[in-house]
Amino acid sequence: MSEPPQAALDLPATPPAPWRRTLRALRSLWRRWFLWVLLAVLVMGLLVTVVWLAGRHEVEQVQARLDRDTADAVADLRAGLARNVQSLQTLQAAPQDPAQWGAVAAELLRGHREWLRIEWRDARFGLLHAADTPYRPEVFDPAERVEASPDLVMACTAARRQRSAAYAPSHYVPFVQPPGTAGGLEVMDLCLPLESGGYLVAAYGLRGMLGEMLGPALMRGQEVSLAETDGTRLVSLGTARRVGNRVFTAQQLLDLPGNALVLRVDGWRTAPDLFPNVLTGLVTAMSIALVSVLVLLARDTRRREQAEAELSDALAFRKAMEDSVMTGLRARDLQGRITYVNPAFCEMVGFAPEELLGASRDVPYWPSELAHEYWQRQRQRQASGDFAREGFESVFQRKDGTRFPVLIFEAPLVNAQRVQTGWMSAFIDISEQRRIEEISRASQERLQASARLAAVGEMASLLSHELTQPLAAIASYATGSLNLLADPAAAPVPAPEREDIAMAVRRIAEQADRAGQVIRSVHDFVRRRDRTREAVAPRLLFDAVLPLVGLQARKLGVRIELDVPADLPAVQCDPTLVEQVILNLARNGMQAMDGAPPGQRVLCLAAARVGGPVSAGAAARRWLALSVTDRGSGIDEATAARLFTPFFTTRPDGMGLGLSLCRTVVEQHGGELVHEPSAPCGTVFRFTLPVAGAAPALPPTETAAAPG
Ligand code: ADP
Repeated sequence: MSEPPQAALDLPATPPAPWRRTLRALRSLWRRWFLWVLLAVLVMGLLVTVVWLAGRHEVEQVQARLDRDTADAVADLRAGLARNVQSLQTLQAAPQDPAQWGAVAAELLRGHREWLRIEWRDARFGLLHAADTPYRPEVFDPAERVEASPDLVMACTAARRQRSAAYAPSHYVPFVQPPGTAGGLEVMDLCLPLESGGYLVAAYGLRGMLGEMLGPALMRGQEVSLAETDGTRLVSLGTARRVGNRVFTAQQLLDLPGNALVLRVDGWRTAPDLFPNVLTGLVTAMSIALVSVLVLLARDTRRREQAEAELSDALAFRKAMEDSVMTGLRARDLQGRITYVNPAFCEMVGFAPEELLGASRDVPYWPSELAHEYWQRQRQRQASGDFAREGFESVFQRKDGTRFPVLIFEAPLVNAQRVQTGWMSAFIDISEQRRIEEISRASQERLQASARLAAVGEMASLLSHELTQPLAAIASYATGSLNLLADPAAAPVPAPEREDIAMAVRRIAEQADRAGQVIRSVHDFVRRRDRTREAVAPRLLFDAVLPLVGLQARKLGVRIELDVPADLPAVQCDPTLVEQVILNLARNGMQAMDGAPPGQRVLCLAAARVGGPVSAGAAARRWLALSVTDRGSGIDEATAARLFTPFFTTRPDGMGLGLSLCRTVVEQHGGELVHEPSAPCGTVFRFTLPVAGAAPALPPTETAAAPG
C-alpha cells in the first residue's frame, strides 16, 4: 500500500545526514573540551620545558664547573712554571765548577720531578754542563743534546731579548734506555738567559709537568691533556674515556713565552639523566601532582556542572510550582520576621513582596486592632512548638482595607542540616467558601419557609376535606333533632323520642369531637411530627367508622358487610388517620355503587393477615391487609392512571384529595395502598399496616394476591 501524498507532506523535516550529525557532535565535543585540551597541552608543554630546562641547567652547571676547574688548572700550571723559573735561577749563583754545579743541579732535579734534565750552555748554545733527573733512566741520547736544536736556539734568543725565560715548542723524544724500549716522551725546553752570557735549559716532560703540577683531584673521572693550538694532542693523563657516556670538554690556552699550549679536560657523565638532580625530580614530582590535580579538578568541575544543572532544574521547577500554586505561602524565621512570600500570597493580601519581607510585629495585613492578639498567639504557638497542621482560621486585611477569612496551616521550616530555621505557613482564602455557605444557608431557610407555606396550604385543604364528613353528620343529627322537636305531635316529648333526641345530641357531640381530632391529626401530619402510634385491634378501627359509614349507607341503600376475624393481631398505627382512610375508601365505594341496582349495593369491609393466617413466612405475619370492596362501576384505565393524583376527581362535588391522602397516610405507616377489579364487578381497595410489636420489615409485595 502506498502512503497518501498528504502523509508525506506532514513528515518532519529531513533528518540530517549521519556525517553532519557526527560533525555537529564532534563540534560540540570540541567546544566543550577545547579549553581542557588546551590547558592539558599547555601544562604538558610547561612540564617538558621545565624538565628540559632543569636538565640543561645541570649540564651547564657541570660544564661551568669543568671550565672553572680547567681555568684553575691553567693558573696552577702557570704559577708552577713561574715558581720553577725562580728555582732555576738559583743555579745562576751556583759555583762554576762543574762538579759543584752538577750537585746543585741534581739537588734541584730531585725537587722537581717534572724536569728531565738541566743544561748549562754558553752564549753560543754550546753545552757546558748537564744533569739528568734521578727519577728516570737516561731519557736523552747525550750526543743529540750537545748541539742545541733550532727551536731551542730560537727560544734562547727570544729569552735573551726579553730578559726572561722562554719556552721552545715541544718535541717528541723516543726512549733510549733501556735499549729497545718502545715509546718516548713529549719534551718542552725552557731557556733562561744567564747574566754571565750563557743559558740555563730545563727540559720539561709534559706528562710529568701535568702530573706534578696539577692535583690528582682533576684527574679523577676526567681526562686531562695538553695539546697544541691546532688540536694535536701531546699528552693525556687521568681516566680514559668511557663509551656511551656524555662528554663534557673544557679547553684553556696555556700561553707561555715562546710556546702556546692548550689544556683540555674531558669529563664524562651518565647520559641521558631523566632525573639528573633533586631539582628536576622535584619539578617532575610537582608536575605529576599538578596533572593529578588538573584531572581531579576536571572531574570536580564536571560533577559541579552536573549538580548545578540539576539544581537549576530543581529551582526552575520550584519556581514554576510556587507561581502556579493557588495557596498562599509565607515563611518566617525564628524571630518572627517574614523571609519569604509567594505570588499567590501577595495577590491574596494585595501587598508587594518588598512591603512584606522583614516585617515581624508590624505585619501590614493584620487588622490593626487584632495585631497584638495575633502576635501573642503566634509567639505562644511557636514557643509551644504546637504547629497547626490541621489548620486554624483567622481574618486578614487586604491593602484596600477589606477583610477576608483565611485558613492557616503551619509547619516548622527545617534546613538541610535538619535544624529548624523558622516556620512555613500555607494560607487558603476561604471567603468564597463562606459566601457559598451563606447562600446555601439562606436558600435552605427559604426552602423551609416555602415548605411551611405549602404545608399550611395542604393542611387547609385537608381540613376542608376531612371536616366535611363530621360536619355533615353534625348537620344531619342536628336536623333530625330539630325535626323531632318541631313535630307538634311529639310535644311534649315522650320518653322514646327523648331518648332519640339525646342520642342525636350525643352523636353531635361525638362528631364535633371527631372533627377536632381530625384537625389535630391532620395538623400533626402536615407538621411531620411524630404521630402517636399505638397498637389497635383492627376491629376497633372499623367499629369507629361504622356509625358514619352506616349513616351514608342507609342514605344510599347500601348493605355493609364486615369480615374481621377476632384472632387478628393488633396493628401499630395512628387510629384517627387510619379510620379516615377506611372512611374515605368506604365512601368512594358507596358512591361508585350509586347507579347499581339496589340489591347489588353491598360494601364489604374486611381485614386479614397478608399471605394467609399461618402459612406465610415470618415476614407475612408481620403485616395485616385491610380492604374495602364495592360492587360498583369499577375503574377504567384512564381513571386508574390518575387515581392518586391530587385534585383528580370524576365527581362534580368531589375534591380529588381523598385517595392521594389515603396513600400518603398508608405509606407513612410503612404500608402500601393498591386497588384491583373485584369479581363479579366493582373494585377492591386494599392497604397494609404493620402488626404491633413486630420488628420493622419490608412491606409485603404479594398483598394484591392476598384474599380480601
Ligand atoms: P373524590 O372522592 O373527592 O372524587 P377521590 O380521590 O376519593 O376524590 O376519588 C377520585 C376519583 O376516583 C373519584 O372521583 C372516582 O371517579 C374514582 N373512584 C374512587 N373510588 C372509586 C371506586 N371505589 N369505584 C370507582 N371509582 C372510584
